[in-house]
Amino acid sequence: MTNISEIYGSMVFNEHTMQERLPSATYKKLLKTIKEGAPLDAEVANVVAHAMKEWAIEKGATHYTHWFQPLSGVTSEKHDSFLDPTGDGRAIMSFSGKELIQGEPDASSFPSGGLRATFEARGYTAWDPTSYAFIKDEVLCIPTAFCSYTGEALDKKTPLLRSMSAVDAQANRVLSLFGEPKRRVVATVGSEQEFFLIPEDEYARREDLVLTGRTLFGWSPCKGQELEEHYFGAIRPTVNEFMKELDDELWALGVSAKTKHNEVAPAQHELAPIFTNANRAIDENLLTMEKMRLLASHHGLVCLLHEKPFEGINGSGKHNNWSIAADGKNLLDPGESPMENLRFLVFLVGVIQAVDDYQELLRASAASAGNDHRLGANEAPPAIVSIFLGDELNAVVDALIADGEDGFENADRVTMDLGVAVLPRFLKDSTDRNRTSPFAFTGNKFEFRMPGSNVNLADANTVLNTAMAKSLKEFADALEQADPADFKQEALAYVKRTLRDHKRIIFNGDGYAPEWEEEAARRGLANHKTTADALPCFLDEKSVELFEEFGVLTKAELFSRYEVKLEKYNKLINIEGRVMRRMTRRTYLPAIIAFATDVANGINAFKAAGTTAPTSQQEALLDKLLSGIDDINAALKEVERAASDVKAIEDEQEKANHNAHVMLPAMERLRQTVDDMEIITSRDLWPVPSYNNLLFYV
Ligand code: ADP
Ligand code: MG
Repeated sequence: MTNISEIYGSMVFNEHTMQERLPSATYKKLLKTIKEGAPLDAEVANVVAHAMKEWAIEKGATHYTHWFQPLSGVTSEKHDSFLDPTGDGRAIMSFSGKELIQGEPDASSFPSGGLRATFEARGYTAWDPTSYAFIKDEVLCIPTAFCSYTGEALDKKTPLLRSMSAVDAQANRVLSLFGEPKRRVVATVGSEQEFFLIPEDEYARREDLVLTGRTLFGWSPCKGQELEEHYFGAIRPTVNEFMKELDDELWALGVSAKTKHNEVAPAQHELAPIFTNANRAIDENLLTMEKMRLLASHHGLVCLLHEKPFEGINGSGKHNNWSIAADGKNLLDPGESPMENLRFLVFLVGVIQAVDDYQELLRASAASAGNDHRLGANEAPPAIVSIFLGDELNAVVDALIADGEDGFENADRVTMDLGVAVLPRFLKDSTDRNRTSPFAFTGNKFEFRMPGSNVNLADANTVLNTAMAKSLKEFADALEQADPADFKQEALAYVKRTLRDHKRIIFNGDGYAPEWEEEAARRGLANHKTTADALPCFLDEKSVELFEEFGVLTKAELFSRYEVKLEKYNKLINIEGRVMRRMTRRTYLPAIIAFATDVANGINAFKAAGTTAPTSQQEALLDKLLSGIDDINAALKEVERAASDVKAIEDEQEKANHNAHVMLPAMERLRQTVDDMEIITSRDLWPVPSYNNLLFYV
């Protein structure tokens, strides 16, 4: 059994290690950089680099890498060894402050959405001292931001860090109005990662899974998730072994993997860490995904992080639990005193306003080809962004909305009076019931449930933080003008006004109900069902203004992200279409034809044998198979036509529109024709493992 406290963080150059290894003056300076963003001088960097290297070598590292998050969403690294030849045939291990602070990856192959073409060919990586360095597979990994030499962010971390600074600055203005001292305010994130584990040998026999991460064909398994036996059921032994190894590795990396359980679908699982600041939380989540993929192979398993690997079976999401905290104090906690209550309400309406005003950006931050199969599919939140508050908080909000502009007359209705009683504490039980809401208040944090399992959460949190900074700024701008003596009154009036202006985003009902779509349309809420429809909001003047106002993304940086996402979407669908066509022609049709031939030969053989028994059943089967082959060929032609139409389109947005609205429906029809044959074709002749084989194993 693992001694958690012994291995926890053993591969991380964390504050504890820093304190142990660095001269105290250096440690203090570095801490100032980490906590307050103070610039780091070269001398300090040299001392830190040396200590890091010594520590890493003791732990068996031979190389270092600048670990970063290009726009493609996966992490990247290029390994350099510490090796430094001395010129006399020997070598020493060296690592300078300069090498710690800055690196130059071969950047030309990373997507930049035209940014580099417009500005500068090369990019460099810059150390992010606010996320810890760690050792992975004998490599010292240094979390870095990735920028062009002219300063454009070419990665996902840079805008996230900028958005965190924006929240910090604006939240502090608000806190100071409450008479609170300046503190470091951070966005906190805890991500619940869902994933599938399936047997490696079966996986290897499915080209669609290997090449696209999802099954493009496949009839539903005989047993689905209707029994719900899998959820919180005992974890199977193979999976358990995997989980244990995963925990050990993650703990060593300082990832606080806390809970793991089976999910609702067969072969689906979830892992949740304890939340931490958004920057580190996202680094941890990326590491977790990487380790999941890698370690599964040690156990004869494959980890699928795709958002919808199996049709008819729940897909995988990544709930983004989010709050903001001032020196560890959660600002979305209702608190104990009237003043804390008021502060809570100010931050709460800040979120409500942010989510309402920037609902489209939030939706777009979770948009991807894979996630389109989840959102709106009655298992994940709908594609409409709305906020769920829970009964108790909703009662408070209703009372505030109904109340007069200045006073607070309905206090008794909600057991709340800012002068006397305090807000009820929102117990998780009473707030966590609505699983259909995309953005739910869960007691002292919000849970954004749209992101898919495969996504880098930096995008979603960058939007959330920036939009929140904007709300807080508006509050601060308004209230800094007010007479401090009237602060409470004015702040409460502001809260009520904001709630009235943004109440349309609050929805506590069933997000899966068709009536909600109609109601949402009446309320003027956006409902972008596909990535192609969701992404254009990046180009809106309103989005540009938001990101530019807070120095999070320039217009060019924002547009580049739009381009990269759009291109990725088009490329993925193109690949899926190609795999489908090839599998149809070379895998499925030959198998179905072979089976039809067997049946035909059988009928002839029976007749030749002189039987008088009817062969009509076999003949009917043969007819079905032959007309099925016909249907497949017709559907295949449609997919081919759609693919060549898409190819002929130049504009990426138009391409995406055609992919979403013509190509994918055609692919869906092709899938249906093949699946229809799967259930009547001999199992022995079916050329790929079925859903039964993939999802139910020991
Ligand atoms: P569940 O949603 O599965 O019932 P919890 O609500 O307990 O589980 O926690 C889900 C995730 O939310 C965990 O990763 C947890 O650490 C995280 N979390 C809890 N509090 C906060 C917070 N203040 N800010 C961000 N994440 C949080
Ligand atoms: Mg949750």
